[in-house]
Amino acid sequence: VLAFAHPVCVALTVRGDGPVLPLATGRPDDWFESDGQITKRPVRALTLSALTPRPFEHLWDIGGGSGSIGIEWLLCDPTLSASTIEPRADRAARIAANAARLGAERLRVIEGRAPEALAELERPDAVFIGGGLSRALLDWLEAHLPSGTRVVANAVTLESEALLAEVQARLGGELLRIELSSTQPLGARRGWKAAYPIVQWSHVT
Ligand code: SAH
Repeated sequence: VLAFAHPVCVALTVRGDGPVLPLATGRPDDWFESDGQITKRPVRALTLSALTPRPFEHLWDIGGGSGSIGIEWLLCDPTLSASTIEPRADRAARIAANAARLGAERLRVIEGRAPEALAELERPDAVFIGGGLSRALLDWLEAHLPSGTRVVANAVTLESEALLAEVQARLGGELLRIELSSTQPLGARRGWKAAYPIVQWSHVT
């Protein structure tokens, strides 16, 4: 049983022997229900670091998936707010359930597609693109975001990586390539299993 003892998302177990939600961003993946579409823990930690939440800011989490980015943004500070955009109804429902369970019920879940669904949202201070990356989305953001907005986009496919290489050449910002491996059984021994590399673009409009 979890109880949230303090608005700053300190989870305490009632009996002291249950799971305790860690305080640092990059919480274990299994705290989030998902169908496999989730930004994995180390990449999530790097992503929140790039998003650099500051008090009272609003995040757009585009391509919500399990909601892990929007939820971890909200858990950083009670003054933060976030909207997550996810076209699949089953995932939108899962995001809301994850947010409620982890003490981030104030997450606004918008069932819809970017960029169409973005027009009615409250102005963001930071935007994360974890899904739905397209030229149309980047063009929409370039045309509509106020200057000073932080944008972070993660690409895993060659096609979306090419979009980020092009937009970085044109607008600037930083590209970071995240290549992580973890050990797995290899016959009777162990070997390094590489995850797909992720290219992360961070930019201030
Ligand atoms: N960051 C998420 C994982 C993202 S997976 C997490 O940590 O859980 C990518 C998601 O983008 C998928 O759920 C997919 O349905 C969604 N998506 C695809 N096209 C989209 C679009 N045009 N607008 C918003 N979301 C989109």
